[in-house]
Amino acid sequence: MKRRSHTSTEPISRCSAVRLAGAAIPLLLVLLLSPGCASQTTALPAPAFAGGTKAITRTPVVGTPKRQYAESFIPGEEKLEDGELRVTVLGSGNPWTTRAQASACILVEVGNPERDLLVFDLGSGSLANYASLKLPVNKLNKVFLTHLHADHMSDLLTLSGSYSKVGRADGPVYVWGPSGTEPRLGTKHFAESIEEALAWDTAAGYGPINPKSMTIVASEFEWHKTQVVYEKNGIKVTSFPVIHCISGAVGYRLDFAGLSFVFSGDTRPSLPLVRACEGGVDLLIHECFPPAAALAAASGLSIERATIALNAAHTSPNGAGKVFNLAKPRMAGLYHTLLSPQVIPMVLAELGEVYKGPVVQTQDFTVFNVTKEAVVARQAKVSDQLPPIPGIQTEPFTPTQAPPQDWWAKELVPLD
Ligand SMILES: [Zn+2]
Ligand SMILES: [Zn+2]
Repeated sequence: MKRRSHTSTEPISRCSAVRLAGAAIPLLLVLLLSPGCASQTTALPAPAFAGGTKAITRTPVVGTPKRQYAESFIPGEEKLEDGELRVTVLGSGNPWTTRAQASACILVEVGNPERDLLVFDLGSGSLANYASLKLPVNKLNKVFLTHLHADHMSDLLTLSGSYSKVGRADGPVYVWGPSGTEPRLGTKHFAESIEEALAWDTAAGYGPINPKSMTIVASEFEWHKTQVVYEKNGIKVTSFPVIHCISGAVGYRLDFAGLSFVFSGDTRPSLPLVRACEGGVDLLIHECFPPAAALAAASGLSIERATIALNAAHTSPNGAGKVFNLAKPRMAGLYHTLLSPQVIPMVLAELGEVYKGPVVQTQDFTVFNVTKEAVVARQAKVSDQLPPIPGIQTEPFTPTQAPPQDWWAKELVPLD
């Protein structure tokens, strides 16, 4: 199969040679990921839930990396380089959250002096995955929502209410998101409603928790415009409208130090996204649903409902391929796909009929290192159970003992 010029086509024998050499020397755990390992004849790596340890792709490397990357990304063991973007899929999945696939969430670590963290969407389960990355809790306070389907925002309660108890001490969660066609459909109303829903949690946190950390500050922007919605510390985030169910869904483009990342959110194949990629994009993560028959079989939906869901609101592998051909990313990624060993080859086969460039079927903990020289896709090897890392608190706050309620004195079990 003909390949794009920026993807190496070294023969499979070279890959084998690299692996053999790696096994023969002490550096066997730090194998250089060879771009030559991309081949249509190479079997796809298994998903992580089935024992796989690599990103699901035949093209894990685009370009020529300036440094060697360990075969797996190990949180806490690899510095983010100056000028680099590290993009980690925290939620690759669907409304049906599983232990293998949290709902939508992409984390971007920025190689600026501040080492800013931004998340794009925050679906169910994504913060459980964040907890495995050994990153400070206190830095996670910038959330960009593509739309208000629950599978894209439901961990906002956890970030606001619960993370303020384990280290988020410096003030509000900042949320950016689109307006709706009426105020109650917009991000501002949503954020205020979440704050209101957390009234008991907030009142009960009085004393030991910085009250400002339990607040949400929403920046709502007009859904239909392509516009810059965030610009700070060398990072620029631009929103653009996408076509998904009703008006009021957007995608985002992030630019930093000459590097760029575009996230589709949920969408049908949409031209504003293609236009947002004009001038080049290093990494484009686009939604992709399985073909309708596979979606029906995997989800239990009838074929009619699966077809409507796919055609009216989402993107088929064929559609994603057409978008990639127009947008021409250095590296493409798919998310929102129901991963199974049967569905993955089906998705990539249909995609491959129209798009021949580099693509990764992302799963939770697929990690992209984006640099000027290369885009590298790996899978992280994580621990499921870690204590929180609070991070450095910069805002002064003195915790106090909350006063006891009047009725407790006579109802508490005496302890001595
Ligand atoms: Zn949606
Ligand atoms: Zn969705």
